[in-house]
Amino acid sequence: MNNIEIGKEYVSKMLEKVGHLPLSSLKDYTIKDELPEQIHEINKFLPQVFQDESEKKYIEALYLALETSYRNGLYQFAYVQYHMLFMTSIYFVLLKIYMLHKEEMDKAIYYLLKERKSEFYSEENTKRGELYFGSFAIIGESDVFMLLRVIGLNDSILGELKKFVKSRNIYAHANGRLLLTSDNLFLDEIQQYNSKIEQIFDLLKDGIIKLYVETLTNSDFYDPEIRGYYDPDDQITQEFINIYSLTQTELNWLRKIKTSSFKEYDGYEHIKDLHIALCHYYNRMTGNDEDACPIEDSYLLYKYRDKADEFIERELGISGYECVKDGGEFPLYDCPDCDENQLVYDRETDKYHCFHCDSNFSGYEISFCSDCDRPMKNAESCICDACLKEKMEKD
Ligand SMILES: [Zn+2]
Ligand SMILES: [Zn+2]
Repeated sequence: MNNIEIGKEYVSKMLEKVGHLPLSSLKDYTIKDELPEQIHEINKFLPQVFQDESEKKYIEALYLALETSYRNGLYQFAYVQYHMLFMTSIYFVLLKIYMLHKEEMDKAIYYLLKERKSEFYSEENTKRGELYFGSFAIIGESDVFMLLRVIGLNDSILGELKKFVKSRNIYAHANGRLLLTSDNLFLDEIQQYNSKIEQIFDLLKDGIIKLYVETLTNSDFYDPEIRGYYDPDDQITQEFINIYSLTQTELNWLRKIKTSSFKEYDGYEHIKDLHIALCHYYNRMTGNDEDACPIEDSYLLYKYRDKADEFIERELGISGYECVKDGGEFPLYDCPDCDENQLVYDRETDKYHCFHCDSNFSGYEISFCSDCDRPMKNAESCICDACLKEKMEKD
């Protein structure tokens, strides 16, 4: 294609997209302060927590390069970097398939690599003896997609994936020509990648859900006396989400599983807590969980039910030990509604919450008995009923 043809194609694509819009609404079209949505899409298919610092740095470097190229209109280079992010997410998928279907994957890797097989499992190509996402990079990019057949990839998707590699090769070739010269052409290509990665993840869906249900209902995983981490948040993050490098897309499938569907299993109480912890993790990851103060975070109120002292120590950061040692008040009181010693005061919001009966009070609603120091609700006198009664009996 010569430059005039490229220009024509650009104009016609541009007209297709914005031709019907009034000119005044197009002024934002060329401003690139915000990256277009399509570019962020790949984020949903990449893990957010990595096995080590070098993996994290690698992904961050790719993003930075992509962003810099895009903002400067260097679409062809942005394209190559997007391709690399795409391949990274494919490698993470393959790593998961390897954990789920080890035998079949070993066989498939053998057929692909034959005598180079030992190279794949070698020390240089693994980390501490384990495969990692980068291990798959020694397999040719067109060939590596064949491993996705283990989860049922069909010929038509395979063909399209191979086309990506061909286009990438054309764009990355140092032939002295810039072929990808417009924003719209670039975003169209990105769209192709995004729809393909979504199709590939769909193939993983059943396997990931099955893995989750099996893991969650295994007593070694859910029983707080046995499991790696006592805290349900730590347990679900460290022993499941991180181990399987789960992405936003997969967590979104899992969070939709109804808690009640675990009702029949032994250990339901613990399974439920872990499942709720996973949903909470997803909400935090996607920014749906804007509650800034612990005392207003419904998840934390649920998590520390009847454990008000733990809430104060861990979420408000007030140490009972230091209060005793250095003075200062540990904000735990008897609840005026249920009498349990589960009422917590949060100075920052001037709010009280009872971790037993779930009552909430504003600061002004609570006063303290001048005799016994117990909290009273909307009291008109400065002494509580019990103390008053006692005094009257004495007199
Ligand atoms: Zn209460
Ligand atoms: Zn009193």
